[in-house]
Order: sequence, then structure tokens, then C-alpha cells
Amino acid sequence: MLRVAVVGSGPSGVYAAQTLVQQREVPGVRVDVLDRLPCPYGLVRYGVAPDHEKIKSLQGSLRSVLEDERIRFLGNVEVGGEALTTGRLLELYHAVVYCVGAARDRMLGIPGEELAGVHSATAFVSWYSAHPDAAAGFGLTDVRSAVVIGAGNVAVDVTRILARGAPELRLTDMPEPALGALAASGIREVAMVARRGPSQGKFTTKELRELATLSGVDTTVLADELARDPAYADPAAAAALPAVNRRNVEVLRDWTAHRPHAQARRITLRFFLRPVEVLGGADGRVSGVRFEHTVPDGRGGVAGTGSFEDVDAQLVLRSVGYQGVPLPGLPFDAARGTVPHAAGRVLREGRASVGEYVAGWIKRGPTGVIGTNRPCAKETASSLLQDAGALARRELPGDPLDALRAAGLAPVPWPGWLAIEAAESSLGSSLGRRSVKIPDWPGLLAAAAGE
Ligand code: NAP
Repeated sequence: MLRVAVVGSGPSGVYAAQTLVQQREVPGVRVDVLDRLPCPYGLVRYGVAPDHEKIKSLQGSLRSVLEDERIRFLGNVEVGGEALTTGRLLELYHAVVYCVGAARDRMLGIPGEELAGVHSATAFVSWYSAHPDAAAGFGLTDVRSAVVIGAGNVAVDVTRILARGAPELRLTDMPEPALGALAASGIREVAMVARRGPSQGKFTTKELRELATLSGVDTTVLADELARDPAYADPAAAAALPAVNRRNVEVLRDWTAHRPHAQARRITLRFFLRPVEVLGGADGRVSGVRFEHTVPDGRGGVAGTGSFEDVDAQLVLRSVGYQGVPLPGLPFDAARGTVPHAAGRVLREGRASVGEYVAGWIKRGPTGVIGTNRPCAKETASSLLQDAGALARRELPGDPLDALRAAGLAPVPWPGWLAIEAAESSLGSSLGRRSVKIPDWPGLLAAAAGE
């Protein structure tokens, strides 16, 4: 038998486990999927926006993998801490695949970023997704205008959630405190601001289009900002773009014809504005963001023009990408925010470390959609399977679950997760909603224990 630990139960971890048990070349592979949280699915549960039901439904296929009899889910197991070091984990298993994602947000590095009312989009997403480590809460009652900095799909998600009305949000599994705060928010304006042009947005077209379909929301762009993009004005430049960027430009072009309907809320997509300072009011809270207008520099980047614009905001979300976090005991490339690897094999000082592998964002950086993790995890699993003969020769100390318990850990097994799911479903029924997420550690652990 080849015993493998996969650390992280998001898409890359589940796809890695699936590939390892469903292949035919190496028989008898058994996989324990460990997660720091008592709940599986990683960013599918705690990152995909609650109103994106279709993507959320991917949980169904991840679930059927985790229910495979050759796979065992063990939640509430933190790797890299004192109780379970990476070295100890490798003693308990023939191989370990780290699929720990990229947990940290990136900073803008501009003055004023520390002001009250400035947050990372990651923190905001964690809060409305009921992540048990999320910050306490977002006071939104006094917020009339919000600025979202960045032009990726996360920026689109948080912009949409800020602008959506409470009746739509009630249909999701959003936890009650976040739903209440968003329902009571005074938000009328959300500006999503990109430092480059519309043809360089990182968002996908489906997500972009959705912004113009929200009930009670006017979605606008400024024609003169679009016109500054060579790919907007010149059909030949547009034709040279990747299809997604070309489609994005066409969607935005259509929006210039939108006539505002005096809806309750407005989303404005702004382009060619580089954030230079977060502005504060006399109360020490954020009051706006100062941007410098930019122009294309002809090499895909932008140059500042020396002309500035202040945009009012009582809430600022920076959504400028995720970053990997070093896991104690594993090598880390700080510049890339990833673990150095060759085809998924962890490299220590340039040489493949026996039995250690990576997949997903910690391997390739925070890019791509959920499906991108499938080939990424497959590559890693293939490397591991090629090494299987040598790895399996080592005698293991016994069932790793006993060792985890002996180390003082209290793993939540699959039935514990099912109990959490059942508790979230009853919570939803009691509130006249569908399933509603439990947002705190004590609540999750009590539910897992059937209390
Ligand atoms: P992202 O796609 O990398 O976008 C980051 C954005 O931040 C870019 O527009 C970037 O602009 C901007 N930015 C970076 N540094 C900046 C700075 N100093 N000042 C101003 N803007 C700055 O990251 P993400 O939105 O966090 O998404 C991460 C990954 O998750 C992506 O692969 C995304 O597709 C995926 N995701 C997918 C979905 C979905 O499929 N529905 C939902 C959420 C996330 P530049 O381009 O100019 O650098």
C-alpha cells in the first residue's frame, strides 16, 4: 500500500487525491486529505461568491471524490504547527502533497492604506463566506460609496456583492451577520478601478457581463476612458488580443450605450487610474482614494500623466491578487510566493525532496479558474506515481490517525463534516432560508461533534 497525505481539500487537493486513487498503474494507493478547517472544499466553500450557485455546485463532484472508500477526509488538522510538523507528517506517510493555496492578500504599498475602512477583498470575501478566521465584521451602515481597486474576478465578485440587494442575497448561504450588514448598508455607488485599460482587465467575460444584469443597479463605464485603450479604438489592435480580452472590450463598448435608469445603486467601471494615496477624514476613517490618470506606454503597461483625481469612498477594498504563505518546514520562493518545484516535486536547494510534492496555487501562483487545477494536480500526481516504487519501500509506523490523535489533534472525519452540513441546513430552515453557513470555530466544532 502507498499511503499519501494531501494537505488542503480545495480543488487542487481533491483533484490530486482523485488522480492518485483512480489510476491503474500503481495499485493500493490510499489518500488522507487533511484540512486545517473542519470543512472541506477550500476556496469553493470559502472563496467562490455565494451568489454563484453554479460554481458552488462543484462541491457535489468534489464530494463524490472525498466519499471514495480509498480516500479519508480529516478536517481540523493543522500542518506546520508544533503538533504536526511537515517533517513528522512525512514520517507518517510515504508521500505528502501540499495543496495549501495562496492565503494572503497583497498590499498596495501606498500611504493611507492602514486607515479604518480600508480592507483587503480577501478579508471581505472571508467574512461574507463565513470563514471561521474572518475578521469580526464590516460596518456598512455609514458607507455610501465604495471603491474596489483591481480588475480581476475577485474585484468583480466583491463589487457585485456590495451592489446586490438583500432579497437576492437572502437566497444564498451567506451567514446572518454578513447578510444583515449588507442589507442595512447605505451603499449607493461602487467604483471598480483598474490601473490599466479595458483590454487588460483580468476578469472573464461571463463575470463582467453579469455586472450589467443586477436588479436595481445601473452599470456604467466612461466612453473617454475606454477610448484611451488602443484595442478599443483600433480594430486591428483588437484583433490581436486573446479572445477573452476582445470579448471584454465588446461588452464594455455595449455599456457605453446604456442609459442610466436612476436605479437605487450604481456600479462604475473606471480605467487608467493608478492608486497613489488613500485619503482620510478628520475622524481617522477613509474618505476617498487619490488616483493618478495613466496612459498606455505602448509596451502593455501604463505611464502616469501627472494629473490626479480623488474618488469619494467610505469603504475601500483592495483586490490586487493573492499571495502564497510560507509553510514552516517547506522551502519557499518569496519573490513568486510559491514552493519551488519541478513537475510538482518539491525542490530543496535545487534537488527533488523525497516524498514531498505541491499542486494548485502554492505550486503555480494564484492564477486560473477552478478547472486549471485539474491538469496541475494531474502533473503532480504523475510525478508522485513515477516515484511510488521507491517511496513505498519505507515501513510506516501504523495508521496515521492514531499518531495525529496521540499528538493532541482532534481530527474531524467525514461524518463530522456531514453533521456540520446538516446543522447548516437546519439553521437555514429555522431562519426561513436555505442552508446557512456557521461562521465560527466553536459552532463548527460543536456541529461536527453532533452537539
Ligand atoms: P488577478 O486576476 O490577478 O487580478 C488582480 C488585479 O489587481 C489586476 O487587475 C491587476 O492589475 C490589479 N493590480 C495588481 N496590483 C495592483 C496595484 N498595485 N494597483 C492597482 N491594481 C493592481 O487576481 P484576483 O482577482 O485576486 O483573482 C485570483 C484568481 O482567482 C484569478 O485567476 C481569477 O480568475 C480567479 N477567480 C475566478 C473567479 C471566477 O471564475 N468567477 C472568481 C474569483 C477569482 P494589472 O493587470 O495591471 O496588474
